[in-house]
Amino acid sequence: MARAKVNPPPLWDIIVIGAGSAGLPLAIRAAERGAKVLQLEADYRVGGTLYWSSGQISAAGTRLQKSQGIQDSPNDHYRDAQRIAHGQIDPIVLRLMVDNAANTIDWLMDLGFQPAVGTPVAGEAHEAYSTRRYLWGNNKAISILETLKPIHDRLIAQGKIHLLLQHRMQKIITDERGVVTGVRANTPSGSQEFLGKNVVLASGGYAANPSLWTQLTPKVPLCSYVNPYSQGDGLIAARAIGAPLDGSDKFLCTFAGVLDNPKDPCSGIFLTLSPGTRKIWEIFVDTKGRRFMQEDHPSIDYRERSLLRQPGTAMNIIFDEGILQNSGTMTLDSRSVYRAEFGRHPAFIKAKTISELARKLSVPIATLCNSIKQYNSAVDSGIDRKYNKDFLIRRIEKPPFYAIKAQGITVLSPAGLKVDKKLRVIGKNGKPIINLYAAGEILGFGRTSGNAFVGGLSLTPALTFGKILGERLLKW
Ligand SMILES: Cc1cc2nc3c(=O)[nH]c(=O)nc-3n(C[C@H](O)[C@H](O)[C@H](O)COP(=O)(O)OP(=O)(O)OC[C@H]3O[C@@H](n4cnc5c(N)ncnc54)[C@H](O)[C@@H]3O)c2cc1C
Repeated sequence: MARAKVNPPPLWDIIVIGAGSAGLPLAIRAAERGAKVLQLEADYRVGGTLYWSSGQISAAGTRLQKSQGIQDSPNDHYRDAQRIAHGQIDPIVLRLMVDNAANTIDWLMDLGFQPAVGTPVAGEAHEAYSTRRYLWGNNKAISILETLKPIHDRLIAQGKIHLLLQHRMQKIITDERGVVTGVRANTPSGSQEFLGKNVVLASGGYAANPSLWTQLTPKVPLCSYVNPYSQGDGLIAARAIGAPLDGSDKFLCTFAGVLDNPKDPCSGIFLTLSPGTRKIWEIFVDTKGRRFMQEDHPSIDYRERSLLRQPGTAMNIIFDEGILQNSGTMTLDSRSVYRAEFGRHPAFIKAKTISELARKLSVPIATLCNSIKQYNSAVDSGIDRKYNKDFLIRRIEKPPFYAIKAQGITVLSPAGLKVDKKLRVIGKNGKPIINLYAAGEILGFGRTSGNAFVGGLSLTPALTFGKILGERLLKW
């Protein structure tokens, strides 16, 4: 009896894991060059963190800069980035990024991306560059998604990219020599194997996975505001075949937020605490009730590092009824909703007296009273001798008294995979794992930006490295 013939599974030229900031340019450029591309995406849609990101990118030597008479070079970008990051960025990765980022931005503009009026600038939310190379679109990172998606859609329609949504890669498959030959994924119809000549991990970070965060970043409690699909699947799968992960020591928190749901470490929401956006009427005290920083210091790097030094990146924001009535709110809520949070949400504390406030915050009463007394004297004299706070407009004296228990928040994952200058993933013996590549936040924010926020140094390398891999992976 003749046996039914079973067709072998297709052998893809490139299997791309993830269709976000790195995965989209990768699939587009590879497909445009004739590769047979399979793209697996865990979500029901493409875009990944582009739906969340502020979309701020940076590059030196762009056509946009030239059109505005700005002289810049990749070497200047390199030096400037390492200056801001205190020399902590991986030199190989940074060199690859600065040498190719202008090309990425020119390409996006060729595809229709429109930079916001007034950009590029030297600095915005983070420490300033020494020249104007920092830009974004009119609708945060959605502007980038809206530029890339029509081309991606067209290539799918032409059969050049085979996109499978709700396909979550679980495992990297290797042969007996350790050479990568494909992946296994959970699909709506069960677990399935996909075989390919090259596998590229573009599956993003891990700040939506509390247990992996605790393993990889044990010194910092998680309070994140990220794409829920940033589960670190690519890191787990690469680690299982011997790829070491590093970079967790290069963490810097963002200043600052609270957990919307105290039981969910991924429910972080930002408080408006930038003196450029909202005057800082309050004082910040540590978990012992002492002031520890200049609350309205103009450098965001100073403010973030001051908070990072606090145990658990925790601080208490202290103010009174007079300040509540006169200042802007710290959340995006209306004034009445904001006021109602106090006493309702465990991080928003209200008390009739300073002693009661201290008790509710579990800080020594005498210390908190003393901090407020000294601050009130600084307001009276107009000089804050110890901490140099600039905005000294109102004493903290009118009951009820308020506190917000805030903490550092993260939008990024510091640890990640080590790669060489061809973006090949390095294995445990220090040699590249054959046929395995990585791009995007899976490399770790510590690798692309050091322990600092250097403008655009997560999204720009994600887009740039995705594009480079699409253009340079030659095994098909
Ligand atoms: C609020 C916020 C603001 C930010 N602002 C900036 C900024 O202004 N500038 C900047 O440089 N950076 C910024 N970042 C960071 C930057 O946007 C990200 O680092 C970058 O977009 C990550 O790109 P990626 O391709 O690595 O990951 P993503 O864009 O997240 O793409 C990964 C994709 O992989 C999919 N995936 C995950 N696991 C699997 C799996 N197992 N199988 C298949 N698919 C999977 C995900 O669903 C996702 O679609 C910001 C981040 C946030 C959250």
